[in-house]
Amino acid sequence: MFNLGSISTPSSNTGEAKHVKVLVLGSGPAGYSAALYAARAELQPVVLTGMQLGGQAALTYSIENYPGFPEGVGGAQLGELFQKQAEHFGAVTEFDLANAVDFSQRPFKVTTDNGEYTADVVIVSTGASSVELKVPGEKELTGRGVSYCATCDGWFFKDKQVVVVGGGDSALEEGLFLTRYASEVTIIHRREEFRAGAILQKRAKEHEKIKFILNTVVTEVVGREKVEALKLKNVKTGEESSFPTDGIFIFIGHTPNTQIFQGQLAMSELGFIKVNEKMETSVHGVFAAGEVADPHFRQVVTSAGMGAAAAIQATRYLEELEAN
Ligand code: NAP
Repeated sequence: MFNLGSISTPSSNTGEAKHVKVLVLGSGPAGYSAALYAARAELQPVVLTGMQLGGQAALTYSIENYPGFPEGVGGAQLGELFQKQAEHFGAVTEFDLANAVDFSQRPFKVTTDNGEYTADVVIVSTGASSVELKVPGEKELTGRGVSYCATCDGWFFKDKQVVVVGGGDSALEEGLFLTRYASEVTIIHRREEFRAGAILQKRAKEHEKIKFILNTVVTEVVGREKVEALKLKNVKTGEESSFPTDGIFIFIGHTPNTQIFQGQLAMSELGFIKVNEKMETSVHGVFAAGEVADPHFRQVVTSAGMGAAAAIQATRYLEELEAN
């Protein structure tokens, strides 16, 4: 897994805020690409990992569309390479979570689980989190048959029957991954057409372990100690049914992790941070990159590109600041 060796101890145990030139919030492809570029500009960036070291990409079993890896690369492995490369040039990783920001004063103030930072530049790359179905039983049975991560939990479903909900790239990709363990994977999708790319659709449709239930939504997750069945509703006929299963993996999209920036940065109606083509947010000196600011592409390569762009622009911003 990731190299935790270079993680520094929280420096603010003294009660004083630690000042850094560039503070990167989030350790996914956008965060570590930003850190790499900022480190190479000798800005000694500090990366706060957030809850998930490596971001969502690290939870992906195999990434086949990140350039430079013709055979594909493990998500966790790629994340580790991103981290190593950034640290090689001087970036510092702190296993810490930002939980409040104050961008109304300079330097900017960021309060974390372990202390407080002030920063000349903040690069926000806090990514996105899985969307929940919001049906009865889902919350109660999370971790007991309800999952949002096939790479993390697939192993527990060896020779079992599981359901995947969704019709995008994630649902089909993760459904295919689950065939390694499960005896049968049923993909339940609310429409007939899939949002997923053609290659994934072909692979899933041709896979002997994968079945489909279309035009159908899950209305309840049923079980006492663990998932036992799902209540389903056909959206065309209105017909309701019960579907026995050992597990349900939910891949119905992602929502940006922007709660702590409410009222501080301009956001879209869906909660994505608004950035211009230079990754500048509504606050001069605060940049955003990756899925937190990208409702369109959400690829590892596009997030990494946004991170690099944010750091390049941040470097120019700091040069201007120093010149004045
Ligand atoms: P997505 O593309 O937004 O797909 C979400 C799916 O969930 C859609 O099929 C949607 O149905 C369905 N859905 C949404 N809300 C639902 C609800 N309440 N109940 C039932 N179904 C619901 O999300 P994603 O698959 O996580 O992909 C996110 C982004 O990451 C995309 O840009 C994708 O291309 C990218 N990605 C790429 C790869 C890859 O290239 N290998 C892998 C993973 C993700 P509708 O279709 O009816 O709206």
